[in-house]
Amino acid sequence: MHDTLLLFGATGDLAQRYLFPSLLRLLGDGLLPEDFKVRALALSPHDTEGFREILRPRLQQAHPLATAQDIESLLQRIDYRSVDLRNADSVAEAVSGLVDRHCVSYLAIPPGLYISTCEGLAKGGALAAPHRLMLEKPIGSDSESAEQILTTIGGWIDEDRVFRLDHYLGKAAVQNLIALRFGNTLLEAVWNRNYIESVHILVAESEGVDGRDAYYARSGALRDMIQSHILQLLCLVAMEPPASLEADRIRDEKVKVLRSLRPLDAANAARDSVRGRYTAGTINGQPAQAYQPPEGSDVETFAGVTAHIDNWRWTGVPFHLVTGKRLPERTSRVVVTLKPVTHWLFERPHRGQATPNRLVFQLQPQENIELGLMSSLAGPEWGALELQPLELELSVPTGLHRRIAYERLFLDAFNGNHALFVRDDEVRAAWHWIDSVADAWKNARLPLQPYPAGQWGPEAAADFLPGDVLADASDGQA
Ligand code: NAP
Repeated sequence: MHDTLLLFGATGDLAQRYLFPSLLRLLGDGLLPEDFKVRALALSPHDTEGFREILRPRLQQAHPLATAQDIESLLQRIDYRSVDLRNADSVAEAVSGLVDRHCVSYLAIPPGLYISTCEGLAKGGALAAPHRLMLEKPIGSDSESAEQILTTIGGWIDEDRVFRLDHYLGKAAVQNLIALRFGNTLLEAVWNRNYIESVHILVAESEGVDGRDAYYARSGALRDMIQSHILQLLCLVAMEPPASLEADRIRDEKVKVLRSLRPLDAANAARDSVRGRYTAGTINGQPAQAYQPPEGSDVETFAGVTAHIDNWRWTGVPFHLVTGKRLPERTSRVVVTLKPVTHWLFERPHRGQATPNRLVFQLQPQENIELGLMSSLAGPEWGALELQPLELELSVPTGLHRRIAYERLFLDAFNGNHALFVRDDEVRAAWHWIDSVADAWKNARLPLQPYPAGQWGPEAAADFLPGDVLADASDGQA
């Protein structure tokens, strides 16, 4: 197992909120190598002691059940170096003295710094075999910039030592999606256009752009969320059964789905998509300000796109992909809705009032899976047979220890398992489709529609987010 982590962006939000707390849990569970070490790197001019002082309360807050001994044990394994990642020599200097160990470099930094950082790692010898590289999303902001990152970094390190993260892939419910699909005859038999009416994939945030203005002004909802988390979820719902669970067999199937996505055409942009931006409003009783992007930026904070997968299994089934900021609640979910039964026998509820069978994968704020069926409410006499909706909970029983996504992803990268990481051709295929949406918006001059913070997007979003999908979202919070 690799035993040394070079954590770039160690002072940042991701590292402090998720990465160090994940390492603390893994250490507490005895899952890290005996002589595991972390070199923390960022621009700020701390020394090692100063950095440990900043990190200690963050760890206590993020993991209140951790023992003081485990926290100190992690802190003692960390040393801090200040580095300017725009300067490759500074990076090479900062990683010196470690390259005789098995290093994993984790880039939790703005993507604009990936190339100069990797140039420095290569100069310092930290990208030669057996060293590994973990890269956060997003890889670029369109096909052209992604290609530049992929090919430049690919010149320094082989693909089989690169681990591109999309932390949604580390979630237990996402892995359960694969287990439920391919471990059960019941689901796979109906998993096609003959039985499935539609699929909704929703990633809703109640937070605003706050603090990420520079990045967001160039990105927007389509590039920030749909290109990564949402397309990854779409792949797992839509892919063919892989020949095995070997990483490349799964990733082969995901790429085929991405390549089957029909490019969005400008002529259909208004029918198949919507884009919006939040204005002032109220969330949970608190006033929220409008998003004011910098002069000249035209980015959306809400995007809805209906994706069509042109292949044998999915032709004619709409995949409604929706994401937005400053929506009423934070929730991520995949809702697979089945077609109505062909002949309805029951008086109550009347046909049309029956709830369709639905499989809901809830990923945030908690992870669970529900199957919605119609079941009988036995009446006093046979003729009064009445049906009511029944939700079957399919998740792993609560109380079992569940690892958070980053813990799982760290372990997999340290152990060299690629199944939950994104391959280079997936990145290319995802950007190819996203570019078609962005071009269609530009060519059709699709207007940005305002929505008040605290509402489910602009009015036109109702076509992409029907009430029953949202009603389920609220239920999921309970
Ligand atoms: P952040 O809070 O802005 O942190 C950025 C980090 O990069 C800081 O440690 C900063 O160091 C360092 N940095 C910036 N410029 C530098 C330079 N020239 N030289 C050396 N270090 C430099 O960003 P973040 O939210 O943690 O996100 C980091 C990456 O993870 C991004 O690619 C983001 O898209 C991705 N990501 C974040 C999240 C999340 O929840 N935050 C989730 C998924 C993906 P100083 O603080 O010392 O300036």
